[in-house]
Amino acid sequence: MTGLSGARWGRLPADQFRRALTLLVLVALPTALVVGIVAAAQSLAAYRANFEARLQEAARTTALAVDSRLASYRAAATVLSLAPELQPGGDPTALYPQARAVGEALGGWVVISTGDPTRPQIVNTAVPPGGRLPERPPPEVLNAPDRRALVVSGQPVVTDMFIAPLTGGRAIAVAVPVLHAGSLRFVINFVFEPASLSRLLVEQGLPPGALAAVTDGRLQVVARSADPEHYIGRIAPARMPASEFSDHGMVASVALDGRTSLFALQKLRFAGSWRVAVWMPLDSVAAAATRPVQRLLIAGAGIAALLLMAIGLVWLGRRDERAAYAQLDRVLADLPAVIWVSRVWPDGRLVRQYLSRSAAAVTGWPWRTLRQPGAFVALTDPAMMQERTTLFLDALRNGRSTGTYRMRHADGSWRWMRGSVMCMERAADGSGLLVGCSTDITEEHTVRERLQQAEKLAVLGEIATGIAHEMNQPLAAIAMAAENGARALAHAPPGISAATAKFRRIGEQAHRIATIVDHINLFGRTRTSEAKPLDIAPVLREALQRLAPRLEADGIAVEVELPATLPPVMGISVVLEQALLNILGNACDAYRERPERAVRPIRITASGDGDTLRLSIADQAGGIPEDVLGRVFDPFFTTKDVGKGTGLGLSISLATVTEMGGSITVHNDGGGARFDIVLPVALRPDVATESVHPVSRGQHAGAPAGESHLEFP
Ligand code: ADP
Repeated sequence: MTGLSGARWGRLPADQFRRALTLLVLVALPTALVVGIVAAAQSLAAYRANFEARLQEAARTTALAVDSRLASYRAAATVLSLAPELQPGGDPTALYPQARAVGEALGGWVVISTGDPTRPQIVNTAVPPGGRLPERPPPEVLNAPDRRALVVSGQPVVTDMFIAPLTGGRAIAVAVPVLHAGSLRFVINFVFEPASLSRLLVEQGLPPGALAAVTDGRLQVVARSADPEHYIGRIAPARMPASEFSDHGMVASVALDGRTSLFALQKLRFAGSWRVAVWMPLDSVAAAATRPVQRLLIAGAGIAALLLMAIGLVWLGRRDERAAYAQLDRVLADLPAVIWVSRVWPDGRLVRQYLSRSAAAVTGWPWRTLRQPGAFVALTDPAMMQERTTLFLDALRNGRSTGTYRMRHADGSWRWMRGSVMCMERAADGSGLLVGCSTDITEEHTVRERLQQAEKLAVLGEIATGIAHEMNQPLAAIAMAAENGARALAHAPPGISAATAKFRRIGEQAHRIATIVDHINLFGRTRTSEAKPLDIAPVLREALQRLAPRLEADGIAVEVELPATLPPVMGISVVLEQALLNILGNACDAYRERPERAVRPIRITASGDGDTLRLSIADQAGGIPEDVLGRVFDPFFTTKDVGKGTGLGLSISLATVTEMGGSITVHNDGGGARFDIVLPVALRPDVATESVHPVSRGQHAGAPAGESHLEFP
């Protein structure tokens, strides 16, 4: 082959070669030139478009970095706000060391102020370096509108820049409210100097020649990537109404340094009225675009460079988030609580984003084990999964929630945990970013259980005198009847019928004692922790069956009108049944007092509002006289004849139903008495069955990898 082609070229005539060369010069070179010019022009146009995209991208990633910095301050203040010391009865001063450690670790300081705006008073402060404690309580960090916003929204607020009373220098505060029953108890202010934000802007790796700044709600420059000392506190001239730019708009305007520039603007998520601006003076834009070498470079590597830069900036943003979590980890290392951050969807899906290393010390299990998906589900008492489900779904719905549940410690024992959960932000898909704090309250729980038992004993002690009195009468009657019966038998007949009457009386009186003992027994046995999801229909059926002979004998017609589907309630069936027997029994007694009534209905209805279920039992036996209506729940209060009523039925029903988390009330209504038993609804069955143990049951096969369900510390 080589030989053949060599021979051909060797034979190419000289004029043919010249013609080929002329063709190349006349056609190919001009074509290449035109293609080159078109390509260069296109690359310039592309450069301009890319340049704008680059500024916008830089503004977006800078805003992301500032947002994640504010988020870390907000998370730290939120964690403090969940502390039990700030709950009613807690000692806020016990939070001093933790607040100081948070301030030092994150480069700011923490001021916890009371919720009363008329008496600004510092509860605790970690003094910043060079700062001094003021002699008098300093004026408030928060102004009145900010304070109102805290109460109305219940959400954290980032303040505008202000002069800090402690240092005399400029400062910004992230304020997190601690609300109780709708009013402001405390405000946790995480205060930091704006200089730290300027440093953050410098670290962002802006495009060459570009500048970045952050302005607050009053358009004060809070941070600037260059010459912050000259510009911080000045009012930005670009008074552009928010409507002029969407989330990311480009605006040509005059910067504070007097140069006409192209601005990319971004809003911040955690400080709604703040703006991040990244801009480039127009003269440097033109200079850059006309430099031919740069143009060629841009034509070749524009998109790749842009992509790389975007990836780099996103990575920087992520690194910031990771650094914030690492900082949080150091702060929380010795905390006797588990802190976690998870994204949770209303259907129970969960992706955990953070689990404090303190989880190991609290639960006894290695942190790496706990980090595995499903670890917390496996360790939680299966009977209490519902409490945990409620805990976080409530937080998702209402913003915050607290609850208790049991989990297995590494030493094999059950530990009681109290979880406080707060929703930090909600996404459009209904999911929420929850931050939670779980503490081991086993000791507190044991003491409380013991106290409850002790309280019951005290109450029992108080009523023991009453019981002794109540039992004395039937016992005396029994003794007397037994004696009379024996005497009557000695004179047989007609002694037998007299003796039969006496023995019947003995039976009745003994029965009365048994009723009193039953009530007291039930009272002693009831424990809140025994409440379980429970369908009321079978309990009601059982109670009606037990009373059937009596109802029939008294000619009472019971109308039961329950909706087709009723949600299960949290309760103890024997307690609910006893309460129903008491109320129905009282209605029978009331009809007995009114022999003239021919029609004797008892109407039982049920209704719910989603959170509670109301069971109403109404008779038409004349009702309860107004002057005794307020006393029917008092122990030993009875209007019945001696030997007929104990006066314990309603008082013990009320005590036990209240202990289950419910209530009983009474009204006169429609010619009779109406008793309403209200009980808390157990979690909806769909949530309960699909989400309680989804990991262990292997449900939700469609969930993305790395996600787990309801896995909460
Ligand atoms: P007891 O039934 O032993 O008297 P309870 O505590 O059950 O004790 O009831 C207290 C009192 O409440 C009754 O004595 C009666 O006066 C009144 N009461 C309860 N239910 C009704 C009712 N349905 N109609 C009228 N009065 C009632």
